[in-house]
Amino acid sequence: MSQTEGWLPEDRPRYLMGTGTPEDLVECVARGIDLFDCVLPTRNARNGQLFTSQGRINIDNARFAEDDGPVDPACGCYTCRNFSRAYLRHLFNTREMNAGALNTLHNLHFYLDTIRRIREAIRFGRFESFRRTFQEQLSAARLRDKG
Ligand SMILES: [Zn+2]
Repeated sequence: MSQTEGWLPEDRPRYLMGTGTPEDLVECVARGIDLFDCVLPTRNARNGQLFTSQGRINIDNARFAEDDGPVDPACGCYTCRNFSRAYLRHLFNTREMNAGALNTLHNLHFYLDTIRRIREAIRFGRFESFRRTFQEQLSAARLRDKG
């Protein structure tokens, strides 16, 4: 993208296909991208990978077998309001069709909420602060997952 961004007119929307993770969205917005189009949130949901405010989780992980908590305590989506990690893990491991649907609802909600928060940060002139906090939270989650 860095090779093309200087050539694109500043007064037109910028569309980027195939990107990407929530952290990619934040970084690409910082570089002037306005529109995204990517399968990642839905494809990963169908494969059991969920994006959360505390980083990514794989719902088939054994540590969720008896976890009564929601996918993401900070999320207000239908899946998080109604189903536990343990139940979603069960659905996923038994190849129940609802696993993909419920996981997809959560991931799309997480992405839309991330974009809503980006839009709000831009509107109030605090995008750089939002960007820093967002990256710090994900870095902390990565360290926690490794430790
Ligand atoms: Zn959710």
